[in-house]
Amino acid sequence: MEIFLASSNEHKKHEMEELFKDYTIITPKDINLNFDPIEDGKSFVENSLIKAKALYEIVKKPVLADDSGICVDALDGKPGIYSARYCGRLKNKVDGHKLSQNEQNGLLIEDVNLTLKEKNLDPKKRENRSCRYVCSLILYYGKDQFLCSQETLEGILLDDINESRGTTGFGYDPIIFLPEFGKTVAELTEEEKNSISHRGKAAELIAKAMKNLF
Ligand code: IMP
Repeated sequence: MEIFLASSNEHKKHEMEELFKDYTIITPKDINLNFDPIEDGKSFVENSLIKAKALYEIVKKPVLADDSGICVDALDGKPGIYSARYCGRLKNKVDGHKLSQNEQNGLLIEDVNLTLKEKNLDPKKRENRSCRYVCSLILYYGKDQFLCSQETLEGILLDDINESRGTTGFGYDPIIFLPEFGKTVAELTEEEKNSISHRGKAAELIAKAMKNLF
């Protein structure tokens, strides 16, 4: 059975193919569709629903859409839904060029270190550096019909960009440390990450529910 994915990101397509092995995942790019809805929701779930509904209205077939990001407690949950483009209050350091992921990771660490110092909190203490990945995943399967699952992966933000490590995954993975594994997310195998990640857990719940639907 075919399921459309409301994203043309190849990395996401690959992750979804691993997570929904019983289905054929088709992206807008696969059908030469220029799909770029305005994500102006105020939460992960709102943005995910915007993308799912927009694609469903075009293809009229079941659609999966996700919206995800990293929420850092010291920054009151930021960057959250703005994770893909975050440079925080360190904007003045950015001269208009598109930031590399590594630069973005460095700016997030710097922002948290500064914030903790201002609050007289020890930047070296793990409990001050807690954060979580969040993923809101929606399966939109009929007019005004959908399932939604939102899951998290708890971690600790590293305090030094020079300590980032690991090569799997993407985005902030090299700077998110998982104490119970003694590794960053980018040091996990793809399988390990899928079994504990925000996206993996949300997908597992949706995949189970899908068995009753189709
Ligand atoms: P989205 O494509 O709008 O969901 O944006 C998600 C953004 O959040 C990505 O660009 C990453 O910066 C970050 N993000 C979400 N999930 C992950 C993950 O599993 N690893 C690393 N970064 C992630």
